[in-house]
Amino acid sequence: MARNIGPVCRLCRRNGVKLFLKGTRCDTDRCAFERRQNPPGMHTFRRSKPTEYAIHLREKQKVKHYYGVLEAQFRRYFEKADRAKGNTGNVLLSLLERRLDNVVYRLGFGLSRAHARQLVSHGHITVNGRRVDIPSYLVRPGDVIGVRNRPKSRKAVEASLAECQREVPEFLSRTDGPEPEGHVLRLPEMEDVSIPVQPQLIVELCSK
Ligand code: SF4
Repeated sequence: MARNIGPVCRLCRRNGVKLFLKGTRCDTDRCAFERRQNPPGMHTFRRSKPTEYAIHLREKQKVKHYYGVLEAQFRRYFEKADRAKGNTGNVLLSLLERRLDNVVYRLGFGLSRAHARQLVSHGHITVNGRRVDIPSYLVRPGDVIGVRNRPKSRKAVEASLAECQREVPEFLSRTDGPEPEGHVLRLPEMEDVSIPVQPQLIVELCSK
């Protein structure tokens, strides 16, 4: 299960947008992007206007980093979206939003997508009562996302819920209490995506 393990704040600076990769730190004044918004590296102020290709590439990289997927997996999502009915860009983002690690994060069970991914792969999360430890599992409408009935699992999720007060998107709902649960109400749509993204640029790049 490959993942990006390099420094993440520079990805926000590189993409020119906050990608919320560091949990609660992202909402504080310790956020690196709030302090320095120029791209990382030397000579950043001397760089010329980005080319058309660079603009398209940046849009794709932004989405990949935001959802924590690498190139090969992203290509597979694109191929799946391309084969599906409807607008390819919107279907692509809907597929990425349906990933179990993303849903766990958006429900507030994890502090960041990386933390949510760890909760899933360490077996703390259930879908419809059954343990699922695959972060890329795609949820469907009607699915119930729960926490495994173990003190360790409950403690991990309770700590995240207490620490972050994240707004749950409209395609999900959360039941709080001693056994918190998330419900998938419908398939995610473009308005459920919480970063500014132009999917047609990604489609144009990946279709070449
Ligand atoms: Fe990005 Fe979060 Fe780092 Fe800020 S703290 S630069 S939002 S990863």
